Amino acid sequence: MDSVDLKLEAGKIHVYLRHHEMIDWPCPQCGAACKLYDDQPERRWRHLDTCQYQTILHAEPPRSECRDHGVKVIKIPWAEPSSRFTARLEALAIEWLKAASQKAVVGLLKLSWDEIHGIMGRAVQRGLGRRQAVAMDMWDPYIESVREHLPEADGKIVFDKFHVAKHLGDAVDKVRRKESKTLKAAGDDRLAGTRYDWLRHPASMEAKDRREFAELRNSELKTARAWALKETAMALYDYIYERPARKHFRWWHGWAVRSRLQPMTEAARMLKRRFENIITYLRHRITNASSESINAKIQ
Ligand SMILES: [Zn+2]
Repeated sequence: MDSVDLKLEAGKIHVYLRHHEMIDWPCPQCGAACKLYDDQPERRWRHLDTCQYQTILHAEPPRSECRDHGVKVIKIPWAEPSSRFTARLEALAIEWLKAASQKAVVGLLKLSWDEIHGIMGRAVQRGLGRRQAVAMDMWDPYIESVREHLPEADGKIVFDKFHVAKHLGDAVDKVRRKESKTLKAAGDDRLAGTRYDWLRHPASMEAKDRREFAELRNSELKTARAWALKETAMALYDYIYERPARKHFRWWHGWAVRSRLQPMTEAARMLKRRFENIITYLRHRITNASSESINAKIQ
């Protein structure tokens, strides 16, 4: 944030945003690191109100110059390219539309009819984009069925994030079971009864359990290495752009196949075979869990 200008008598707060100096700006089409080309002239977005005051963001969105795609405005994190509202304000309008009439929402948010229709149109487009993508387990009969019924299916199949986590979790558990047996035979029962600790997220543990688990996962145990592989693989889902996500996966896959942990190597090979439909997640950002509720909203 650069500055804030209070125009209280006009009922408005203006917030001026300025970007950091950065060496690389990602191309919005391919994510390649590009040089800054220039800044667009100032644009405005209406954001959620601050107290009772309409809040307007001002910024000059940077443009990147990609070798393959030319000069493009970068992806703005707070709004869709064509909108004069922030994503938060659009989400609020959609939430209220579920509970009240268009007329009521137009009045409450002080929008014009064109503006509320623009917000609804973009919500429908987002919903349709997601509906056409299909999240599923990496199980062949499902894949064949979708290929049969959906045109250009390969670009729309998304192997579900939770299934990817489950396959990796199963592999970690195989490593743990085998290692636990070996340790027990030597009188070491560190891994006994820890099965679920390796599947849960440490943030969901009690402080005492978390400390104990931290000791385990920082140990020299094979299970700890397998767990680190799983967590690192799942970091794939935090990427916004495809190119760095692919790089991350190549690096991870190399680590996994050299890990000498057979279940992890097998999981890595399976994920590599399915990778083109795992990376589609970055384009569609769906999982089975959320597609249910998105479908309900489209209806
Ligand atoms: Zn590009």
